[in-house]
Parts: sequence; structure tokens; C-alpha cells
Amino acid sequence: MERGIETKCIYGDGAKFEGDKTGSISFPIYQTATFAHPEVGQSTGYAYSRMQNPTREQLEQVVASLEEGVDALAFSSGMAAITALMELFQPGDHIITDADLYGGSLRLFRSINAKNGIAFSHIDCTREDVESYIQENTRAILIETPTNPMMNVIDIRRMAEVTKRHGIWLIVDNTFLSPYFQKPLTLGADIVIHSGTKFLGGHNDTLAGFLVTSSPELSEQLRYISKTVGSGLAPFDSWLILRGIKTLPIRMERAQENAQAIVAFLQGERRVRKVYYPGIPGTQAYEICKRQASGFGSMITFEVESRELALHILKSTRLIPFAESLGGVETLLTYPTTQTHADVPLEVQLKNGITDRVLRLSVGIETKEDLIEDLRQAMDSFEGKDSI
Ligand SMILES: *Cc1c(COP(=O)(O)O)cnc(C)c1O
Repeated sequence: MERGIETKCIYGDGAKFEGDKTGSISFPIYQTATFAHPEVGQSTGYAYSRMQNPTREQLEQVVASLEEGVDALAFSSGMAAITALMELFQPGDHIITDADLYGGSLRLFRSINAKNGIAFSHIDCTREDVESYIQENTRAILIETPTNPMMNVIDIRRMAEVTKRHGIWLIVDNTFLSPYFQKPLTLGADIVIHSGTKFLGGHNDTLAGFLVTSSPELSEQLRYISKTVGSGLAPFDSWLILRGIKTLPIRMERAQENAQAIVAFLQGERRVRKVYYPGIPGTQAYEICKRQASGFGSMITFEVESRELALHILKSTRLIPFAESLGGVETLLTYPTTQTHADVPLEVQLKNGITDRVLRLSVGIETKEDLIEDLRQAMDSFEGKDSI
């Protein structure tokens, strides 16, 4: 019988690490840069921590098993993972990405990869005829779903049909739902990206990133890149993420339950114009998400009636910090236009719906009544005149 995901979060696929004979329940932190060899021509399997480290490998094994991938590689941040991924491409290659992506990814593509000769088309992968943008030199389609911050949902199976027809890669950033709710490789994706900083780590205490692959060839190429560029995750950080993942299922469930209660509250607020959450029935996002994921997650974006109210809420919450990032046990309130998406040109922000009235909530696992009460007092204390 295939192991359940809760078991995999704790033990991975069950492969035993033979190097430790103490019976330690918590995986040891191999805080070493280098490893001794028995003699010339012999190796323990470990030479230097940029290339191999047991703690990082244990984490990689757990993440590969959660995503049902062939292999996973751990990096020092999500951006380090995406930077390494981009080394798969050559000058002259073309990549299609969804238009509504994490701002840091867009900045990497625009300011680093473009200067190295890689061309990008950013298109709305929910609506437009994506296939018509494929050129002779197109090598991949890269998406996030749900998207950040507008919570659009892209049909992963439909994208995989397109990429398979053209013999190119489908790359999915699965940070927002985590493998607990969504497994893109099982829907036809070739590579999964994670910011492990977010739900996998889950405690807002360290950075990490992952690439999970569906084939040994891709894994081999990426391992070569990783050991060469040197952005692998450090042993202690690997241990922190391993520890975080053990509680991923119960955190995801509880955060989703809280998010659903907050969505209901926001929908009843007069000063909230629109709530973006894939778990709202009657939308296309809901239908697609239901088909390809087992949950809707705990990210909520909402638009209030004025910029003044948005700014007021950001300075008036007493419990919920105004801070970047997501996926931790702490609920965080973010202002995409000046934070996560500050480097995205204003006209692109507006085209994607990121106005100065849009706020993003990453819902944590606190008592939901406390969260709702905090949002309520922040909105009720606004004295500005209605702009309706
Ligand atoms: C945060 C994030 C990243 C970048 O990850 P870091 O760990 O911050 O480098 C990439 N993609 C998404 C969707 C993110 O939320």
C-alpha cells in the first residue's frame, strides 16, 4: 500500500539513512563542509557539502516523495531554485510564463535572464490561446496556480497537453497549495518549483527553495547545475524545513479552515469590494481547482473601497503583522503594490488587477475568531468618508 501523505511528511518514502547508528528520531544535522575519504579511489558517498550533505538529502527525499517526483533538489531560497532552473536554458531560448507571477520571479526573468539572451512572453494562461504563442524556440511554459496575488487558477492538465504536443517542459510553481493540496507532476508537469520558505517550512523562520523533477535526466542536469553554482540549502536550514514539513497536513487543514471563515467575514463587509479566493463556488477558478487539487488553501486577496482604507487597515491591525511572505503559522497581511510586486511596472500591476486597494492575507493557524475580530476592528476604526 502506498504511504499516506501524513506519513510521508514524517518519514518520506521510508528510505533509511545508513550513516547514523544511534537511533536518533530527529534526523541529525550534518554541520560539516567536507568529508574524509577512506583511501584513494574510495568514498563514503560524501565529499563536500556543496555537492552532497545527508541532512539536505533527507529533506530532498521527503519533498520528492510528497510531490511524487523522481528527485528533489533543495536550494538556499525559492529564488535560488528558480535561478538554477533557468540555467537549463540557452541564449536564444523562449519561455512562456503566466502574466500574474510572484514579483521576484518576474524581476529575475526581466533583469537577469533576459540579459543572458532568454526571451519571455508573459500571457494570461487562464484565458488566452496559449498555444498560439509557442514559437520554434519556445522551450517551456512556466505557471503558478493559484496565482500570486490575484488567485487565478490555471488548468494544469490543459497546459500539460499543450507542452506535451510541442515537446517542451511544463514548469509549475506549487508554493501556494503545497503538495498537501496539489501535485502538479501527477497532472503532467515536468518540474515543480517551491519556495520552501512558505508552507513547507511553515514557521516564518528560514528560507529555502526546491525543484522537483519527473525524470532522471532532468534531475541529473539540475544536480550538475546545483553543485556548480553552489546554492544548495545549508544543513541547519535543511533540518528546520524537515521539522516544518512534519506538521504540514495539520497546518494546511487548519489554515484553510480559518481562511474559509475569513472569506465569509470579508464577503459580508460593506467596505470590501471583492474577495479573491479559489474556494468561492460559482467561479471558474473554483471548478478548475476542484478538479486538480484537494483543497483551496489559505491565501486570500481582497479589494477594499479605497486606498485610504487599505492603508488604514495595514497600520491598524493589532494581532496580524503587516509583513511580506506567506505560508507560516502566523497570519500576515501584505500590500502587493508596494511589497511583493513593487518591482513590477505599474501598468502591468494594473493590468493584472493589483491596485492600491488590494490587500493579501496569508492565513495562519491562530484562533479564527481572533483574526476576524482584528480585521473587524481595523476596518471599523476607519473614519474616512465612503467613496461609493
Ligand atoms: C516567495 C515565493 C518565491 C520566492 O521564494 P523565496 O524563498 O522568497 O526566495 C517564489 N514563488 C512564489 C510563488 C513565492 O511565493
